[in-house]
Amino acid sequence: MEDLKDKRALITGIANKRSIAFAVAEDLARYGARLALTYLPLGRPGELEKFQALTEPLHPELVLPLDVAEPGSAQALAAELQGRWGRLDFLLHAIASAKREELGGRTSDISADGFLLAQQVSSYSLIELVRETRALLTAGQGSVVTLTYIGSERVAPNYNVMGMAKASLESAVRYLAMELGQEGVRVNAVSAGPIRTLSASGVRDFLDLMHNAAALNAFKRNITAAEVAHTAAFLASDLSSGITGQVLYVDGGFNIAG
Ligand code: NAD
Repeated sequence: MEDLKDKRALITGIANKRSIAFAVAEDLARYGARLALTYLPLGRPGELEKFQALTEPLHPELVLPLDVAEPGSAQALAAELQGRWGRLDFLLHAIASAKREELGGRTSDISADGFLLAQQVSSYSLIELVRETRALLTAGQGSVVTLTYIGSERVAPNYNVMGMAKASLESAVRYLAMELGQEGVRVNAVSAGPIRTLSASGVRDFLDLMHNAAALNAFKRNITAAEVAHTAAFLASDLSSGITGQVLYVDGGFNIAG
């Protein structure tokens, strides 16, 4: 694997050790990248200390709050990065959230609030983060990666409102990629097979979904967060310099199954 030495990487979306973003941060650290990590500030006592203890093995240079549902949060993050680093070589967007009832309920019952919340947090946040970090990404070898799921294009049980958010997220990847290409910034999505994480636990009967994915894909097993992370590391590296606007499937071939 090519060296990622001294690449400055902003990693969002670490909630715990199972987070896909944690695996990505581990890979990037292994290949020599410098890390800025964000945590979701919920106002709980000791949350920063907990996050620091969790991520201490990754040796992040910066640990910063980010709540994409909070106006000005992404802007403040970018301002801090501008002051500390002045450039970004990699941005991982690994953020998603929806109301539990909008996932498991009937599609025709999705509320306007629930729809807009899922879109804002899980999709629009990519656009906002790219806008706020644009100067940093342009100054660096900006590679942007987001995480998506095949529920954007197929009807996955209990995925509902998140499927629609992932559909708009993947579309945003293509439009952003076309806009930013000439500035040397690449934007791609990795479509991961199902992995047991905190977010995934909000999807009813998720274990059935995992079982189904393993039964139908080419490997006859589920993929791991480490496998998703390796692809993100490749997209962070100069080895992927010709790739933008793509959705890369890391799903053991599930998407080609007939
Ligand atoms: P996770 O729960 O570990 O990560 C989701 C992250 O989103 C958390 O760190 C959470 O703090 C963050 N987040 C939620 N609301 C936020 C807000 N308002 N501001 C900032 N951050 C916020 O679960 P994960 O599975 O690692 O999810 C990461 C990404 O991968 C998500 O986009 C998810 O949809 C995607 N994905 C997951 C799977 C899977 O099966 N686990 C498959 C494909 C894609």
